Amino acid sequence: MTNNDIRVRIAPSPTGNLHVGTARTALFNYLFAKNMGGKFILRIEDTDIERSKEEYTQNIYDSLKAMGLQWDEGPDVGGKYGPYKQSDRLDLYNEFAQKLVASGHAYEGWCTQEELEAEKEIAQVEKNPYVYSKKCLTATPEQIETYKKEDRKPILRFKVPDKKVQFNDLVKGNLEFDTSLIGDFAIMKSNGTPTYNFAVVVDDIQMKMSHIIRGEDHISNTARQILIYEAFGAKIPEFAHVGMILAPDRSKLSKRHGATAVSEFIQQGYLPEAFVNFITLLGWSPADGEEIKPLDDIIKAFSIDRISSSPAVFEFDKLNWMNGQYIRHMDVKELTQRVKPYLTKYDLSQYSEEQLNYLVEIVREPLTVLGDITDSVSYFFGENVNIDDEIKSTVIDTPETQQVLPKFIELCETLDFSNVEKIHEQLDEFRQAMKPLKPKQTMWAIRAALTGLTRGADIGSVIYLLGKERVISRVQKAIK
Ligand code: GLU
Repeated sequence: MTNNDIRVRIAPSPTGNLHVGTARTALFNYLFAKNMGGKFILRIEDTDIERSKEEYTQNIYDSLKAMGLQWDEGPDVGGKYGPYKQSDRLDLYNEFAQKLVASGHAYEGWCTQEELEAEKEIAQVEKNPYVYSKKCLTATPEQIETYKKEDRKPILRFKVPDKKVQFNDLVKGNLEFDTSLIGDFAIMKSNGTPTYNFAVVVDDIQMKMSHIIRGEDHISNTARQILIYEAFGAKIPEFAHVGMILAPDRSKLSKRHGATAVSEFIQQGYLPEAFVNFITLLGWSPADGEEIKPLDDIIKAFSIDRISSSPAVFEFDKLNWMNGQYIRHMDVKELTQRVKPYLTKYDLSQYSEEQLNYLVEIVREPLTVLGDITDSVSYFFGENVNIDDEIKSTVIDTPETQQVLPKFIELCETLDFSNVEKIHEQLDEFRQAMKPLKPKQTMWAIRAALTGLTRGADIGSVIYLLGKERVISRVQKAIK
């Protein structure tokens, strides 16, 4: 197989925002394609007309792009094997379905919902797994006439041969299915649209997919899909089914555990590069054990044989930790640009770009998500600062502190506000001079007067950024 023949796809249904599970599948396909020098294709599976929405398609595009997963072919960028949206391919599915009818692999199903329900009920009573009775396979021309007169619209069913379907899954190993448990399933609905299993195979054949990498919830579909490939005499791609993603409580990851859409995570201020790094590790591990890796390095390190077949647990704590790591190590100018959307409620124009970078540098350490910055920088803006009663009574309003604060104002007259180094030196001298008073009565108190907090960013840097006027005025307000 040459690199050009390696073709993989992500095929999301636009019935919701891009889910982390689909994002991980997209990522694994992307990594495999890039590692092998192959192509990564985006196909939008929007045959469920009622539930598919344009806004979700847009969310899928935006989320994949935010993650840095650019596709080589897709609805918006085109490609040799398009169209890449299933709703634009309906004629094709009909054409292919008719081929199966002509070759005796498919037949019309005329049963009503009630008739099918009745069959299911009998199976239930007899405690048998439900398998369609194949009743319509032997419908006579007269019966069909009657159905038509009753205005029934047929579906198309695939005639499942009696055999064992076997395939070697690249993650799960050898898998085998007995078709006696697979009823003659629908391939076309009565409204002329294809079912998932049929459309996916027609598309994967037409788009020349070489590997299908997806969640293990699709394993039972794979048996049906292989039967369709065989009926067309088409080449069967390689399959790789990845273990599911579970929540920390080992149940299915859902909204009740927190965010599940990629866009929600990004909105909350997870850095896309940290998020991508984190989800790569849900079911895959690098051979060198180094978990923090930029996407380019992950591409180099990626291989299907290191994908795990067991479920992966989505540890929110680990994501938080990893995001913090990325925040701390990112180029500060870049980080400043990224946090700006979280600072819109402040008037940033009072600081130069250089000062803003400096501000971000001194507050980034404890941030978990970018959104944390909004509250943590409030004291850098406006004239006043909020000080809660507890801090006021225990730190600011003590007799010792009340003596220190006026002395600090005196110091401000000689403090070089334009030079952080000098501020540090002078603060040091001040602290020494105030001995034997304790730090709580000196530096903590000054910090509380300036920021409303008793801990946080380096106080010399805070003083530098606030500037003489605001420092003096805030300390003055703290004096009773
Ligand atoms: N539209 C399907 C899904 O979102 C695609 C599954 C597949 O990869 O075949 O689950």
